[in-house]
Amino acid sequence: MNQRDLFLRHVAQTSEAPLALEFVRAEGSYLWDAKGKRYIDLIGGISVCNVGHRHPAVVAAIKDQADRYLHTMVYGETVQTPQVGYARLLAEHLPPSLNCVYFTNSGTEAVEGAMKLAKRATGRTEIVGFLEAYHGSSQGALSLMGDEYWRNAFRPLLPGIHHLRHNDTRDLARIGSQTACVVLETIQGEAGVRAPDAAWMRALRERCDQVGALLVLDEIQCGFGRNGTLWAFEQYGIVPDILLLGKALGGGMPLGAFVADRSLMYELASKPVLGHITTFGGHPVSCAAGMAAMRALLAERMVEGVAERETWFRTALENLPGVRALRSRGLMIALEFDSFETNKQVIDRAIAAGVFTDWFLHSAQSMRIVPPLNISREDVQRACEILALCISS
Ligand code: PMP
Repeated sequence: MNQRDLFLRHVAQTSEAPLALEFVRAEGSYLWDAKGKRYIDLIGGISVCNVGHRHPAVVAAIKDQADRYLHTMVYGETVQTPQVGYARLLAEHLPPSLNCVYFTNSGTEAVEGAMKLAKRATGRTEIVGFLEAYHGSSQGALSLMGDEYWRNAFRPLLPGIHHLRHNDTRDLARIGSQTACVVLETIQGEAGVRAPDAAWMRALRERCDQVGALLVLDEIQCGFGRNGTLWAFEQYGIVPDILLLGKALGGGMPLGAFVADRSLMYELASKPVLGHITTFGGHPVSCAAGMAAMRALLAERMVEGVAERETWFRTALENLPGVRALRSRGLMIALEFDSFETNKQVIDRAIAAGVFTDWFLHSAQSMRIVPPLNISREDVQRACEILALCISS
């Protein structure tokens, strides 16, 4: 039996039509399949490979940490140099009130931890999320899912969750004295790149302050330079009480985090003690890899190159016949067609022609373009030429 058949037989399937491509190597903005065919990767592991696949500094850091120690003890009891180093580096590049990092294994777990912290700190029970939101697939994070289709089969979910309309000022009044926290993607990802207005964001921040609710911003998909600033919230002139990170945070290794002020985070240390527990969260190899990725992102000034690359994509794709809309925030781009069927046809053709891409969960008619932040001009041009052919044929 070949690898594909073994994959279909023994690896749990979550779709009736998986891509089932077998990649055997990845480097920078490229993927290679088992037949030696090269693909330009326009999705970078879905916003994970911001510094490119297998950045040499990341690979070196993984090897170096693997030579020292792997797992030694559950989270929070012992001093682990990669965790300490990465938490400090993150704090140095965040506003002063975001100075304390709880590392998790995934984005979803960061969401879970933040919801618990908000309940614990406020003593309140209700949580506000938004329509079309995506925050993960565990039952807490799924309760925040902004679309009934995806959550209904898994009820009962968390009680006390309210979904407001995104970017709608009238709904802000529903954030009240029982609200522990409001959880929002700074830029909605799976909704197909939906950016709220700056005025609405400021009103949301003010409303949270007014009623004593914590503002949790999910930058798991849009953070780490993707939007042209290191953190997306910088563009709104507000600071969250809790920031959620994941995906690119680990430089290609599994890592998530929720970040808050030290005094707020300390709520997890008592009543009960061990308020949030994880065996592998903040794994030393993941932290070493993530720290190397962040250093590379900063040293190679990748964030500074995002706006230019966004323009290359916009110029090449925006006005093509058949493209209904192009929404972008830096290198987080949604190319919208008239239907899922059209989008899927273009995607299939693109993959066959050596450009790897996919669609968004809540915006299936839109193609996802979230490449490594250091993708070259030649690769952008080549990928766009191929996409243009796929759209017109
Ligand atoms: N929040 C957002 C905005 C995401 O895009 C994702 C993943 N797509 C998650 C949370 C969940 O992250 P993970 O899959 O690592 O659990």
